[in-house]
Amino acid sequence: MPEGDTVYRSARSLDDALHGATLTHCDIRVPAFATVDLTGQTVHEVISRGKHLVAHVGETSIHSHLKMEGTWHLYRHGTKWQRPAFQARIVLETADWVAVGFELGTLELFPTPEDEQHLGYLGPDLLGPNWDAAEAVRRLRAAADSAAGDSTAEDTAAGDRPVAVALGDQRNLAGLGNVYVNELCFLRGLLPTRPIAEVTDVAGLVALAHRLITANRDRSERTTTGNLRRGARTFVYGRERQPCRRCGTSIRSGRLGRSELEQRVTYWCPRCQT
Ligand SMILES: [Zn+2]
Repeated sequence: MPEGDTVYRSARSLDDALHGATLTHCDIRVPAFATVDLTGQTVHEVISRGKHLVAHVGETSIHSHLKMEGTWHLYRHGTKWQRPAFQARIVLETADWVAVGFELGTLELFPTPEDEQHLGYLGPDLLGPNWDAAEAVRRLRAAADSAAGDSTAEDTAAGDRPVAVALGDQRNLAGLGNVYVNELCFLRGLLPTRPIAEVTDVAGLVALAHRLITANRDRSERTTTGNLRRGARTFVYGRERQPCRRCGTSIRSGRLGRSELEQRVTYWCPRCQT
């Protein structure tokens, strides 16, 4: 899964190349939208919202999510693609560029006025122009508070949610993937399984999330340690059985969550995180 910083950079590259240009060719290769042709329309902008990418073309929004294998590439005309053509889901051409979306997990088109209808559920965007830390804290706390008052079974489950699940839930704040989630838990000394309701300094957690992802926004090598050297860029993520950088204890890994994180691997130091 890509992190928000990767999607942010993709959107910025696409926007630099395409905005203001007219589409000279448009080929959408997913059945539901295969008949849509935006040739002749102007690309107004390409933006990211959390881990989602939106291109505003004419009156239409092209919404994509990279999911596991997806990526957008930009090519000059006549250049060989770096992925097989059968993986292409959409091809947008201007006089200068060919933009290709490969293996996009989500690709849908809708009228631009419907943006909020499709994306309004997302929490504050960590890398967005209107980042709202207080609102992100409020949303994370709302899940926690609902555990205190014993109303419905569903609410109780929300407060019991592991902090790693709550941080990765794009409805609370948008942009964190599994790398940041694991690293944030380490940096705040929290086990990924710790219920969100037990986290006392949610504001500190949110502030650190914003600082970390912002620090990585403009570089292609992501680091949460401050060290850009290969193999030194994370504290716990991808470091199973290696020594903790702080205390030397062997880093553990496991799969967390009953549903949302079942497919996600978590990493933690059993000594530094409680
Ligand atoms: Zn440790």
